[in-house]
Amino acid sequence: VTEKQTLGFQAEVKQLLQLMIHSLYSNKEIFLRELISNASDAADKLRFEAINNGALFENDPDLKIRVDFDKDARTITIADNGIGMSRDDAVEHLGTIAKSGTREFFSKLSGDQQKDAALIGQFGVGFYSAFIIADRITVESRRAGLPASEGVRWESGGEGDFTVEAIDKADRGTRITLHLREGEDEFLSSWKLKSVIRKYSDHISLPIQMKKEEWSEEKKEMVVSDELETINQASALWARNRADITPEQYAEFYKHVSHDFQEPLTFTHNRVEGRSEYTQLLYIPSHAPFDLWDRNKRGGIKLYVKRVFIMDDAEQLMPVYLRFVKGVIDSSDLPLNVSREILQESRDVKVIREGSTKRVLGMLEELANGDEQDQKDKYATFWKEFGQVLKEGIGEDSNNKERIAKLLRFASTQNDNDAQTVSFEEYVSRMKEGQDKIYYVTADSYAAAKNSPHLEIFRKKGVEVLLLTDRVDEWMLSFLQDFDGKELVSVAKGDLDLGKLEDEAEKKQHEETEVQYKDLVEKMKTALADKAKEVRVTFRLTDSPACLVADENELSGNLVRMLKAAGQ
Ligand code: ADP
Ligand code: MG
Repeated sequence: VTEKQTLGFQAEVKQLLQLMIHSLYSNKEIFLRELISNASDAADKLRFEAINNGALFENDPDLKIRVDFDKDARTITIADNGIGMSRDDAVEHLGTIAKSGTREFFSKLSGDQQKDAALIGQFGVGFYSAFIIADRITVESRRAGLPASEGVRWESGGEGDFTVEAIDKADRGTRITLHLREGEDEFLSSWKLKSVIRKYSDHISLPIQMKKEEWSEEKKEMVVSDELETINQASALWARNRADITPEQYAEFYKHVSHDFQEPLTFTHNRVEGRSEYTQLLYIPSHAPFDLWDRNKRGGIKLYVKRVFIMDDAEQLMPVYLRFVKGVIDSSDLPLNVSREILQESRDVKVIREGSTKRVLGMLEELANGDEQDQKDKYATFWKEFGQVLKEGIGEDSNNKERIAKLLRFASTQNDNDAQTVSFEEYVSRMKEGQDKIYYVTADSYAAAKNSPHLEIFRKKGVEVLLLTDRVDEWMLSFLQDFDGKELVSVAKGDLDLGKLEDEAEKKQHEETEVQYKDLVEKMKTALADKAKEVRVTFRLTDSPACLVADENELSGNLVRMLKAAGQ
């Protein structure tokens, strides 16, 4: 097709555009960061494809980004010589949202502008943010390797539809022209554009160039010359020295690699030398993504080899239970033509994964054990957002099981609310004289756990019980038998042995009671023969007349309910 076609945006895009324009207006300058971020991604993709096909560079190997403005036409242009887009690419990438978590995102929208603005931030804003300041956007592009005649022009007013048509485009890559809305002329200035670029995009590793402004004696004002200058530092941020990077630059780099809009919670940046040489810059986000529970979700690590981008979502570099970690790993040892299959088997990758896992756990320990309120708050946020995922590590990563166990937090009978704040260490430090076990109860809600009849005897004796109510808890506990040499015991299982928590008088009384009720117990056993495996006199209750308990070696009632619900 060569003639101009008008196509409708996917319904979600229309909705996103409306929302974006209204709720992100106070943050409008981020459009430039988003477009530069895309140009940088496009350069990464070209470099990667060119590893096996050098012809894609078309004798123009110096990748760069160019920003221009035209005061008279009231336009801003952002151009790159990256991978570019074909007509089909443009229709797909600039007309639909392909992101995972899209459905969850739209189902969470409330209509409340402030809340929705925060949600968009979490979802990621991207290309469409340019419509905040532009009432028309023209994208001209040609994919590397396609003939000049297969360029595409995409244009839209950001309402319901867009047009696409074929154009001739000699130079590879993408040129985006923003036709500014009335009242947005502040962006038609070198000074303004430069300061926005320095603020948000300094970390971009390729040069961002603009025409230089010079003083004209003749006109007595600043005029744009033909000479170019590079606005940013134009070197890979992770390869710089830590001392030369400001917290703001770290935060902006995070937003670029994660496509997140919010600040990261914390990060770690190291150069590792020795058996395997690599640089890692890893971040923990401050909120869970919409697709945290998506089975097909890959990790958030970008793999580079000697500064060359190799792939997004290199899931082999991070264990599954740390899939929320974002960032960059740059290896000096891996071959440039490494594939996902090779990554799976590579020993270097295994070393990197183990090293990175330790780093991430260390970063979490620092927050968890920190004395400052800021660290405590951050760990609480981390736990709320990602605690359930971290628990998967107990089953998945036997090498680090003990470190992970120390990072776990639970609700407890010690507190009056469902906040998960109690660690095993804290529990152990409060254990009663003579107590040698860690007691817990599992249930499918906090209310059910807190009101469990199994807790009665513990309340009476003042013994703390951890209240475990997350879906993963039962599964996790099947991998965790003890902590610090103390057995983990469900208060709802088997013949509860309170050990030294019971005194001699109590023990004697129990024995007498058992004898006294022997006949009754026998009768009940017969009556319940096909329903109960065992009937016992219990001392764990103080108010309730009876309760069900699971056999020591059996699945607990809660797990049975869960499996039934899952159709097993
Ligand atoms: P994201 O960057 O999170 O994928 P965006 O909304 O920013 O989402 O961009 C959507 C898609 O449009 C990109 O994934 C990419 O495929 C395409 N795209 C945008 N800008 C460019 C560009 N300058 N060069 C090539 N492709 C681009
Ligand atoms: Mg983007």
